[in-house]
Amino acid sequence: MARDPRYDILFEPLKIGPVTAPNRFYQVPHCNGMGRVYPNAMIGMRGMKAEGGWGIVCTEQCDFLASGDASPYAETNMWDKGDETYLGRMVEEVHRYGSLAGIELVHNGHDTPNLYSREIPFGPMHRPMNWSLAPIQARAMDKEDIRTYRRAHRKAALRACDIGFDLIIVYAGHDGTVPSHFLAREHNQRTDEYGGSLENRLRLFRELLEETKEAIGDTAAVTVRFAVDEMMGPAGLEWQNEGREAVEMLAELPDLWDVNVADWSNDSKTSRFAPEGYQEEYVAFVKKVTTKPVSTVGRYTSPDAMVSAIRRGIVDLIGAARPSIADPFLPKKVEEGRLEDIRECIGCNVCVGWTQMTAPARCTQNPTFGEEWRKGWHPEIVSKAEREEHVLIVGAGPAGLEAARVAGLQGHRVTLAEAEEELGGRVTRESRLPGLSAWARVRDYRVGQIGRMANVEVYRASRLTAAQVLELGADHVAIATGSTWRRDGFGRHLTTPVPGTGAAHVLTPDDILAGGRPPGSKVLLFDDDHYYMASVIAELLSAEGYEVTLATPLPEVASWMVHTLEHGANHERLHGAGVTLMPNTMLTAVESGRVLLRDTLRRREVELAADGIVMVTSRLPEDGLFHELQQAIEAASGGGPRTLRRVGDCQAPGIIATAVYEGHRYTRELGVEVDPCEVPFRREWRVIEAGMA
Ligand code: ADP
Ligand code: SF4
Repeated sequence: MARDPRYDILFEPLKIGPVTAPNRFYQVPHCNGMGRVYPNAMIGMRGMKAEGGWGIVCTEQCDFLASGDASPYAETNMWDKGDETYLGRMVEEVHRYGSLAGIELVHNGHDTPNLYSREIPFGPMHRPMNWSLAPIQARAMDKEDIRTYRRAHRKAALRACDIGFDLIIVYAGHDGTVPSHFLAREHNQRTDEYGGSLENRLRLFRELLEETKEAIGDTAAVTVRFAVDEMMGPAGLEWQNEGREAVEMLAELPDLWDVNVADWSNDSKTSRFAPEGYQEEYVAFVKKVTTKPVSTVGRYTSPDAMVSAIRRGIVDLIGAARPSIADPFLPKKVEEGRLEDIRECIGCNVCVGWTQMTAPARCTQNPTFGEEWRKGWHPEIVSKAEREEHVLIVGAGPAGLEAARVAGLQGHRVTLAEAEEELGGRVTRESRLPGLSAWARVRDYRVGQIGRMANVEVYRASRLTAAQVLELGADHVAIATGSTWRRDGFGRHLTTPVPGTGAAHVLTPDDILAGGRPPGSKVLLFDDDHYYMASVIAELLSAEGYEVTLATPLPEVASWMVHTLEHGANHERLHGAGVTLMPNTMLTAVESGRVLLRDTLRRREVELAADGIVMVTSRLPEDGLFHELQQAIEAASGGGPRTLRRVGDCQAPGIIATAVYEGHRYTRELGVEVDPCEVPFRREWRVIEAGMA
């Protein structure tokens, strides 16, 4: 199909200093948990973005001094020649598809733990670090340190040019780099020429920019990544005052202004807390004060929103990290007029969560992310099966839908049976919770894709029994029947049933999602799950007029959300909704009209009036059908499907990303002999030096 001329502007080349971007799709630097630790995986992932049409593809942050060692995070380094090998390979991959390669040079300043290098961190002032509240203190940079830092930055820029990078990004963003620390009044109380006035606090950033330009000349563009607002009101940089003044003072110096807000939790907001294009109001002034190209991010997945941002004069380039993770082929799909094939990011920050746990990132929408090299999975290409077989998938949640989509691409005859009239399983139900509507994209993309496949038949309102499954005579059967929340309190902290939880006024998230509501007006939510579910149900019930108390055994509610950067926003929302939080609290018994709790901090029992209780603790697989089938097949000894598997939550309840991944994997491995004793992917090998002198 031809591209809609409405989107032509997105495919206009753009001159950025001495280089020209082939289009307006800019994959901004983003962490991915691979970096130098799993370099082949990182290279495969970046190359895929270029193949998918992103005109500029950047590294994640790349630290260039041992005192700026980002360990344990798997970022990139530019410490010595050894780093040139994998960074050079990344550049090659990006150039292979005609895209530009950018590198983001960084020193995380006073928040660099230097866990590997053991160097003393430095920054504008002596201060303890905030990172993990580690008992480490950074020292104030003296003039010699500043000179060393500038020299190292210059050297790294030159090295990056030698490797072939087209954009050298000088990074003062996210409240996480030396120049941003110098710029922030809260971090910089120096009395020398690097402290005090805005001009002084901006001095180091200006020096870096000037020196980088002077060093590399026209070999590459020198661009900035700059936070115009620290989102802390007058205590920090604001786009209406110092944020704007800083851009004005350096307006024509960089070849591109890539602007956003700080810190990372404000920049990478989830869809629960911010809509597409949410940074526009903060960055809109930038194009008015510079003639240089401007870019921003804001989870843009719609080409109409992208075109609109350019036409309204907000940006010239559309920056994207998460949308490029969810769909590395987004630009190609717009170019080829295949908008219905775009796999839109749902804004869940699971990718961020895994990076924050220092693991290779994963994506809810794109199960191939990070597996491009490791498993050889291409996000768009699935090989045809050697022969067509009949694949029956029972359950059309995220796991079943993804399994059906991939089996359809393989050319199998696919039957997808779903008990409910509506497809989507848990994503359909959960997307009705406050703030989670974008999650329905997991369903919509897959239902849209299989709807156009003549070889995939979907049966709605068809709850299959074991006998019916066998009657269908499929070659392969996948049971993707999901999971059920427990009512008895079993979870991370309690492993024996809580007395009284069998009563009718005790509900689970499944009951709430099915439209059930607690009786009366006072509700206790017990959260031993520690992710989003209890919080969004609290928000829902509170909006409906319930008096909600949220109790959890941990010192904080929804602790895991610290990884998805939602922890602060979630707390703010719960407070705003009037939810009473009871941390350090264990549920000991449920009675009529009240619950018995234990305050584990003060070691005392607490009684609380509660008309209804919602237990958010853990889930069990809905695997009855699987076991029935297994027994029936064994009893029949012969006949029945060639393979029978459990997929997704039916195997082990988890996050949606895991269900999608397992559904994808199931079909990719269909008919392939897999020895479970062997490692199921390619490994990264390090070279061990011979002999110890
Ligand atoms: P997952 O996350 O693993 O995909 P979900 O709970 O989202 O799991 O989806 C499971 C789906 O399976 C639900 O839509 C449910 O209605 C459906 N289902 C459960 N049992 C059967 C059955 N016997 N026949 C058909 N569909 C079923
Ligand atoms: Fe988007 Fe979620 Fe994928 Fe991250 S994990 S790219 S937020 S869909």
